[in-house]
Amino acid sequence: PTFEAMNLKDDLLRGIYAYGFEAPSAIQSRAITQIISGRDTIAQAQSGTGKTATFTIGMLQVIDFKSKELQSLILSPTRELAKQISQVVCNLGDYMNISAQAITGGKTMQMDNKKLSRGTHVVSGTPGRVLDMIKRRILNTRHLKLLVLDEADELLSETLGFKQQIYDIFAKLPTSVQVVVVSATMSRDILEITKKFMSDPVKILV
Ligand code: AMP
Repeated sequence: PTFEAMNLKDDLLRGIYAYGFEAPSAIQSRAITQIISGRDTIAQAQSGTGKTATFTIGMLQVIDFKSKELQSLILSPTRELAKQISQVVCNLGDYMNISAQAITGGKTMQMDNKKLSRGTHVVSGTPGRVLDMIKRRILNTRHLKLLVLDEADELLSETLGFKQQIYDIFAKLPTSVQVVVVSATMSRDILEITKKFMSDPVKILV
């Protein structure tokens, strides 16, 4: 399998090779084309399998760069992960004029506001701050096409307590939004989310 065979945009392919990837990993071979086709996708994959680039490449292929609206939202359980993902989006999208931003607790919200007002295609964040910014109408989810829940088992764990916030975020999204769930394990909470918010999802296990 090759990245060429996926019919990716030239400037995306360039970003992938410039980042140092030569061939897709197993999860990438199986999931990227599903994501691009618009299917709701459940990928059961651990860290280290290339999961981040899987949803990032799928996402970069479907973003409309003529629009400056927020089109893609990635939720992850920690600030560090949210920042890393945003960095991977910027790196793989280096030749595409991508505008991506990490939204996490910590920094002042004003800093986030300033950047967002210039138009951001992708937001990568933790649930609490993202929900807060949606409620304040700083984040506009009206044009959102794709939602990714990364490390969904962690996101929905009782220790972190994000479950209600994630349900509240879903309630603010267009019902047509495409959902991608990445998780190392499939808990009851994840199955519940997939039943409630995904339609006819494809399941990929690596
Ligand atoms: P992840 O599963 O997203 O935590 O990624 C694990 C590591 O694999 C990261 O350092 C990625 O940069 C790297 N990686 C992901 N996809 C590929 C690929 N196709 N070729 C080489 N390295 C990759």
